[in-house]
Amino acid sequence: MIDLLSQHWGRPERRTDLGSTQDRVYRLDYPDGSVTALKVSAADRTDEAVIAAEAAALDHVHAALPDLAVPLLLPDQDGQILHHHGDTVARMTSWIEGQPLLRAPHWNRASLCALGAAAGQLAWALGDFTHPDVRNHVEWDPRQANSVMDGLLHTISDKSARHLFGTARGRLDTLLPAAEAAGLPEQAVHLDLTDRNVLGRFTVDGTFTATGVVDFGDLVRTWRISELAAAVHAAVGRGLADPLAVARPVVEGFVTHCALTEVEADHLWTAILGRAAVCAVVETAEAQNLPDRDYVRDLSALDTAVLQAVLAVPQPLARSVLRESCGLPPWPVDIAVELRRAHPLPLTGPEKLTITTGWQELVAVPDTEADTDTPMAMSLGVRFTTSPATALIAPLDATVEAVPAHALTLRLDLAGASVFIHLDGVAAAARPGDRLRRGQPIAHVTDGHVGVYVRATTELGDRGRVSDKVAWTALCPDPGILLDITQPAPGRGPGLDTELDRRHRHVAAAQKLYYRRPPQMVRGSGQYLYDHTGRRYLDMVNNVAVVGHSHPRITSAASDQLALLSTNSRFLYSAIADYAERIAGTLPPALDRIFFVNSGSEAMELALQLARRYTARRNVVALQGAYHGWTSEAFELCTMPGDRPDWQAELAARVQVADCPDPYRGRHGGRPEPYLRSLTMACDRAADAGGLAAFVHEPIMGSLGGVLPPPGYVPGAYDIVRGRGGVCIADEVQVGYARTGKTFWAFQSQDAVPDIVATAKAAGNGHPVGFVACRHEIAEAFAAGSSFFSTPAGNPVSCRIGSAVLDIIADEGLQRNAAEIGAHLSTQLAILAGRHAEIGAVYGCGLYQGIDLVVGDGTSTPLPDADVAAICERLLQLGCVVQPTGLHGNVLKVKPPLCVGVSDADRFLSALDQVLRERREFRELSQ
Ligand code: PMP
Repeated sequence: MIDLLSQHWGRPERRTDLGSTQDRVYRLDYPDGSVTALKVSAADRTDEAVIAAEAAALDHVHAALPDLAVPLLLPDQDGQILHHHGDTVARMTSWIEGQPLLRAPHWNRASLCALGAAAGQLAWALGDFTHPDVRNHVEWDPRQANSVMDGLLHTISDKSARHLFGTARGRLDTLLPAAEAAGLPEQAVHLDLTDRNVLGRFTVDGTFTATGVVDFGDLVRTWRISELAAAVHAAVGRGLADPLAVARPVVEGFVTHCALTEVEADHLWTAILGRAAVCAVVETAEAQNLPDRDYVRDLSALDTAVLQAVLAVPQPLARSVLRESCGLPPWPVDIAVELRRAHPLPLTGPEKLTITTGWQELVAVPDTEADTDTPMAMSLGVRFTTSPATALIAPLDATVEAVPAHALTLRLDLAGASVFIHLDGVAAAARPGDRLRRGQPIAHVTDGHVGVYVRATTELGDRGRVSDKVAWTALCPDPGILLDITQPAPGRGPGLDTELDRRHRHVAAAQKLYYRRPPQMVRGSGQYLYDHTGRRYLDMVNNVAVVGHSHPRITSAASDQLALLSTNSRFLYSAIADYAERIAGTLPPALDRIFFVNSGSEAMELALQLARRYTARRNVVALQGAYHGWTSEAFELCTMPGDRPDWQAELAARVQVADCPDPYRGRHGGRPEPYLRSLTMACDRAADAGGLAAFVHEPIMGSLGGVLPPPGYVPGAYDIVRGRGGVCIADEVQVGYARTGKTFWAFQSQDAVPDIVATAKAAGNGHPVGFVACRHEIAEAFAAGSSFFSTPAGNPVSCRIGSAVLDIIADEGLQRNAAEIGAHLSTQLAILAGRHAEIGAVYGCGLYQGIDLVVGDGTSTPLPDADVAAICERLLQLGCVVQPTGLHGNVLKVKPPLCVGVSDADRFLSALDQVLRERREFRELSQ
């Protein structure tokens, strides 16, 4: 039958059934390479006049938007558009290339904007389209939500679904008539601009560009905002946790093509709620009728969840956010100004108030909430403590709106608007409906803890999201005016742009930031960082905070000592000897002399001077791909292109470079001998050029992402160096301090003892503490020629912090934890490497590991910078802070604080798995 029908338009070479909800759709490929779509519908559901209207609309859109493909109806050889066969009717349309947005494993902001933009383009294009046969009614139209629900509600058997739909019906009972009365602009709309019907191109990082729109079967004349409501509704299906976060970019995309009026912006959320209600009710009724259809059941479950999510958003907040997205002021009246103009009295007399939570300050929220994209962590009012029984008075003439338990809500009818003042922690002295005079007693404080909130409407809560700050500022302004206090102005907007501007104005640009739009970190705790929205991130990159952020023992060690004595190492105090003893306890007995410094660079600088003084030679051998610090002598050894792009041209005569013993990317594979030969040659060049002073290396190559040298390399290297009179310097700035798990120092895991060890970073857990340990004869040779003094180094505060770090590592078993969690990570990363072609190799051990990302074609070609950055950005969105390193900048560093747990490791592994899986899916979609 399909063959018969399709032959009216010529004989296709291949036919592919694409399925459909109501009509069947086939892709037809013709021998000349052309492609069309055949749509077969039930004849009794096909209205020829409606199809004619649809055809006219398609032509109209095509003429107005030539770059947005639409399925134009193709007449057959005889000029006919429809063909009947039995009880079916067929029509042929042009084929629209592209992938539906639906296929995207995740939507980024650009994709959401693209969905809104497609809806906006269509609304604009159809704005002047008229046709006598465009319908005025389809059941998916939000405008019809009440009548559709009234027809179906009694048929819904599931009790909780019926209750939910009843709630929606109750809400819409006043909202829809209000929207109807507002005289919203009307026109023909597509009404199904969802992720299913918007087609386009994807890039590997997930950005979608719309190129076409299909399925004009719901074309109807109704409110223009119904078009946008359908698109937002589809987006909320992908953003259930925070519907406004996804609505915002869709609306912004829409209004770039089709401006909305203020009235439309004010009723848009009503239309979205109406759309959510009809979809949920119709799909649920359908699922009851067709219990075996998984697709229908899944859709009904999703639409029910969307309705729930939409209902959970306070209507005034949604209205305000959508107004803002349309470029309007967030609220029609500025209630803060209205309140100020009325000159309110303070709620309390001269009693002393202690503010415990300021307006728009972040409050602690449970971890489960802090781990979401946009936690509700911003206080919308002020909380303070004062004496119990303190009397509170009416700040202005007021009416008592409500008296909930231990609370009171007043309504102030000001000149331009009504404003509500909500107090909790009080015993009310009035009843609902009472009219109060300015200054009249209204309540007294009960247990001394009081909250004060100013609200534009009554149905707003105590906390909100920082991402909605502009709206919240308009809806719940600062109550400070009622307390006679002035708080620091929190600033408009989320503050990120301001903070970036401030930084870029004076902080020199070479001090680069992580991320394109970095989160603004405000707090750290253990293995977590918290940003200015209250969001919690797992810190997988901070080897400096070895015992965890803001460890209370470090805080008290520092503050106790700061309060007692902070001076320099030329004075006698016990903290320095205590710390030196503690350090010596971690090292082999031969390394018993310690110099205190402030940073890794300083440690390396001193290590080089020690070696040069001791050997009375100047030449140094380093490994390719090294970074040992920014100071002049240390930077001479830098051969890391990311830090020193011109290192080859700039290389000093006193520096020789040996091949890096990297089994995966190195020149000579996994055996130590060829690398040792390269080292021998470099040492010989140094010896010939006036004498070898030192060989400098990281025992595990941290700069490359934790690459382990082939077994035997380090002891072999030390023999070669010492055989030529040089000393061996181990740079443990990154890889030392229990991080690698099995041993405290990385050199210990390589069965070799250096002559000089340099470290910093973890030594002070972020406070500038570093040291160099060496053999006594090296220290003595140095002392013979000069003294050493680095003013703040080894001061009592630094020493107490340094000792506390070592105590905590021991007391909390952090080295064992590094070994255990590291082993788990190694096993699981190996499994991920088997699953994802973009993982070329995994390096390191314990909690210093590296994930070498490659293009995934079976070679070791490094993944380009932009892709690595996109992976890090996406991992950040999923709550994990990870950054790349390595010669090619393609190795993700895994070096978290040593207090991470298995659940943290699993969270990171699952985020990485998700990101690489999404990339694979996007790559397939983009081909
Ligand atoms: N050595 C190595 C191996 C390093 O990674 C670094 C810093 N990344 C340094 C030395 C220099 O340390 P700092 O930044 O504390 O000066």
